Amino acid sequence: MTSDADRRAIFLEEMGLAPLWVPLAAPLAAVAPVADQLAVPPAAAAQDMPATSGKPALPVMAVDLPGVARASETVGLSGNIGADAAAITAPGATAPSAAEIERMDWTQLKAAVAGCVKCGLCRSRTRTVFGVGDEKARWLFVGEGPGRNEDLQGEPFVGPAGKLLDNMLLAMGLRRGENAYIANIVKCRPIGEDGRDRPPAPDEAAACMPYLQRQIALINPTIIVALGKTAAMSLLGLEKDTALAKLRGTVHNYSGLPLVVTYHPAYLLRKLTDKGKTWTDLCLAMKAYADA
Ligand code: SF4
Repeated sequence: MTSDADRRAIFLEEMGLAPLWVPLAAPLAAVAPVADQLAVPPAAAAQDMPATSGKPALPVMAVDLPGVARASETVGLSGNIGADAAAITAPGATAPSAAEIERMDWTQLKAAVAGCVKCGLCRSRTRTVFGVGDEKARWLFVGEGPGRNEDLQGEPFVGPAGKLLDNMLLAMGLRRGENAYIANIVKCRPIGEDGRDRPPAPDEAAACMPYLQRQIALINPTIIVALGKTAAMSLLGLEKDTALAKLRGTVHNYSGLPLVVTYHPAYLLRKLTDKGKTWTDLCLAMKAYADA
């Protein structure tokens, strides 16, 4: 069994923070300065990105992290319906109303998402990406939407960003299938005019929100962690020009549940120097969880 110290060490290794670790028991105010002191030179920082380095220096954090990879594969049985979604998507299916969605059980909700044509994102998707994890989880993590890999596989957070999220969960003593559920604001991949992934537009997020709201109601988590600006703004109903920096460091309220905002793992892979701040956010989330 992985100890708390091991989990923290794993996270900090992945974040490039190991030499600067401050125990979780320390006041959060003491953690932030440590994280903020990070000045990882781009060249050095790039070396600790598992998706690109290829070096075996941190094997436990790499793609083949024992247990985590297996967890993400097996939890698909309970939480992910990617393959099923493709099978039951029916052209011309009608979109349920928000009131109808509010009354759905898990099976009905998954089927509704799989056949959904409520917004334009349905036209370009390969698969809907419903969510994955423990359907009775205390922890709910919400990202913005599927990317290319997720669209192909029908599961949220796969690829390098998914591995980083798995490592974040592991550091907190969580796994995808064990007390954690992972979902997105939208269930279909938003694609920009350039063919690349993009954040969902406000109308797309609004169209899909009733599904996420029903997921939250069915899971009934203790705490929500919003991964990135889009997820935070959508869940909290904020204006789109709200800066993520203003949302971090505060325990927000989502329908009576504590909600903590941190960076999206995909962003962290691009902005290595912000990785340390994520640990500060997760410490805040763990404290809010303990207080809830
Ligand atoms: S993004 Fe959501 S609302 Fe839009 S088609 Fe997909 S499931 Fe339906």
